[in-house]
Amino acid sequence: MGYKVTLIPGDGIGPEISQATKMVLEATGVSFEWETALAGAEVMDRYATPLPDAVLESIRKNRVALKGPITTPVGSGFRSVNVALRKELNLYACVRPCKTYPGVRSRYQDIDLVIIRENTEDLYAGVEFEQGQEDTLKLIQFIGQTKGVKIGEDSGISIKNISIKATERIVHYAFRYAREHNRRKVTIIHKANILKYSDGLFLKVGRQVAEQYPDIEVEDRIVDNICMQLVQKPHLYDVLVLPNLYGDIISDLGAGLVGGLGVAPGANIGDGVAVFEPTHGSAPKYKGMNKVNPMAMMLSGVMMLRYLKEQEAADRLEKAIAAVIREGKRVTYDLLPDLDMNKAASTIEVAEAVIEAMSSN
Ligand code: NAD
Repeated sequence: MGYKVTLIPGDGIGPEISQATKMVLEATGVSFEWETALAGAEVMDRYATPLPDAVLESIRKNRVALKGPITTPVGSGFRSVNVALRKELNLYACVRPCKTYPGVRSRYQDIDLVIIRENTEDLYAGVEFEQGQEDTLKLIQFIGQTKGVKIGEDSGISIKNISIKATERIVHYAFRYAREHNRRKVTIIHKANILKYSDGLFLKVGRQVAEQYPDIEVEDRIVDNICMQLVQKPHLYDVLVLPNLYGDIISDLGAGLVGGLGVAPGANIGDGVAVFEPTHGSAPKYKGMNKVNPMAMMLSGVMMLRYLKEQEAADRLEKAIAAVIREGKRVTYDLLPDLDMNKAASTIEVAEAVIEAMSSN
């Protein structure tokens, strides 16, 4: 009997990278019983929802899922399936390690940062008021009456909510993570100088929580400042803890520091339940072409193996991925110095190269 894992291939490039990831995970020798659950734009017609109940039921039962990316229509259409999954399952911590593997195209070597993003509230909570609607006009009126601020009636409004409870939970998570992974410092990211009641609360509660971890250094940075600092001096940072939207944006910055989205893994963690997925999205223009990099999802698989306490298999798979990157011969276009498609390996060829590297270790 293997580990029962819900596999959500997703849409766009999701099914290709999921297939490649499944291949390398099975080649570790760890045994899995995959329960495939379909979600995303492509199941809309069949189930009238991009997130059928069966997907949530499967994850609730198995407690562990591996997920490919899912498209979210911009501006209109259904809301994000990714956000809905995190909310429904209360996956409050999004963990995104940004680590350089020798051989990647990057300005820096030896970067080893971890981004810990609050996953349940902030501007991602989905409380939005559409321009021109009755409730929006009422809200605009209310703000005018109570705050004396005149907001144009042609405005749309999105709410940014930050609570003590969710902040305590994510900052405790970040400090516990730092302790368990022998990290030295946690940096709290915010814009408390301007957003006094939301980010200000995040910073205040974050500092209070930090007092309970005297063995770990704590500091804070304003979000615009950390963008510049990470570009100029990324080695100064270790674990970053952020509210939801900044976490989303800084995750891509972090991926850019270590070679791009093709090598940036992630995990969404709740109490006793976890969904592992790459940082990147469904890259629809590459769908079905068998040419994108599956390593971000494979490295998410490495995180899943560690979560399942399969340390030896996780180390072996990570080493094999690192060896394929270092050798640089059988990698996808995004890892080549000249981005030359003619010299690039396909998604499945990368999986084969990783499996070979694992067996020759
Ligand atoms: P994206 O991450 O899908 O792709 C941006 C670009 O990055 C691609 O065009 C490609 O050049 C590169 N890229 C991404 N993944 C790659 C890989 N594995 N290998 C090589 N190159 C890669 O971002 P986007 O285009 O802004 O978003 C597309 C869709 O994905 C949107 O609908 C968005 O909402 C969704 N999305 C989903 C998730 C998720 O499922 N968790 C996360 C982010 C975005």
